[in-house]
Amino acid sequence: MNILVINASSSSLKYQLIDADGPVTLAKGLCERVGCDEPCVKHGADTLERIFDQRFDDHEEALGAVLAELTAGEKPAVASLDEIDAIGHRVLHGGDVFSKSVLIDDDVIAKIDGLSELAPLHNPPALACIDACKKLLPGLPQVAVFDTAFFQTLPPSTHMYPLPYELAKEHRIRKYGAHGTSHRYIAQRCAALLGQHVEDLKIVTCHLGNGCSMAAVDHGIAVDTSMGFTPLDGLMMGTRCGSIDPAIVTYLIKAGYSADEVEDIMNRQSGLLGISGISNDVRDITEAASKGDARASLAYDMYAHSIRKYLGQYIVEMAGVDAIVLTAGVGENAEIIRRRVFAGLQPLGIILDQEKNRTHNNGHERIISRDDSPVKIIVIPAGEEYMIAADTQEIVSAL
Ligand code: ADP
Repeated sequence: MNILVINASSSSLKYQLIDADGPVTLAKGLCERVGCDEPCVKHGADTLERIFDQRFDDHEEALGAVLAELTAGEKPAVASLDEIDAIGHRVLHGGDVFSKSVLIDDDVIAKIDGLSELAPLHNPPALACIDACKKLLPGLPQVAVFDTAFFQTLPPSTHMYPLPYELAKEHRIRKYGAHGTSHRYIAQRCAALLGQHVEDLKIVTCHLGNGCSMAAVDHGIAVDTSMGFTPLDGLMMGTRCGSIDPAIVTYLIKAGYSADEVEDIMNRQSGLLGISGISNDVRDITEAASKGDARASLAYDMYAHSIRKYLGQYIVEMAGVDAIVLTAGVGENAEIIRRRVFAGLQPLGIILDQEKNRTHNNGHERIISRDDSPVKIIVIPAGEEYMIAADTQEIVSAL
């Protein structure tokens, strides 16, 4: 079954056409500058096969370009659009309304719309793409896969914040988490690689890209995650600060910064970039640190410390751990970060194999702990699109 997977943000549209029976990717790409007056920054473009680095008025126009591309050229991905069987959309926010993927109908659309205030940059573009698909691929079933759904199993003691109860309820303030589809995917792939059922394992999952998050997956159920009410919470990230003393926010506002400025500082000027003053990219930090740059080294140490803090927390929360799984740009590639994170954890049964850690095995799932390590350390290439395609296939097959 051929599934078109769509991942829209306010200024971009990423897509993959996936034959879910493989699963195998038939085509993928990225449209940039959707609806932008200013040129937009490229991100992750080097790994994509087709980049539409041009200006599109809206998501419908971008989708039109994608569909034309899929059938164009001497070796088109599909001979005609009739070969696309269904569409799977990544929707950032499912609030406390959606705990699993769903077939899209008018009611689902209204509910996603109702959650837009929680994800103003992501839910509206997802809705724009759903609408564009209705027009350009009429009659095809569409499925919504929510980034937050996997974390709807978090118990109240974990997802509530100790704010006044009524205030939190009134404003829908709770931990929703993010990257849920990626965490679910790597937990499942980890179990498959170990030849076990996810229901028999205690797993700590780490999605370390530009955005970073971790989760505790206890016998297949997510019991905690580091991102919170928004994806700003938790780990130190490329440009995001993660958890800081909340009083710093009001302190800065009282010092004369506007709320928007503080938001910008915390989201775009902090993290690895903020500390190093060099870059949000671990590759640049590594190079600078190797040349003796003290702030780059500090950024490294803080980043690894932040990961170790959550690792310790989740091992206690689950009273043990069988496997630790890493994915995304940093998790898959940054051997120095992995070495720093797992250093000295032998007493906990977590023993990294230095040789396996150093060896690059491009795009393949692999175990990088020592054979005698009681806890397995595993690298799984990011594959949330495969998860979206799998959910879409399952829902559409049952129709
Ligand atoms: P996202 O999807 O969150 O934008 P990615 O998963 O593509 O991010 O990760 C991007 C980050 O991964 C880069 O900013 C960089 O820090 C890191 N990264 C990518 N490749 C490497 C590499 N070979 N070595 C170290 N870090 C890398």
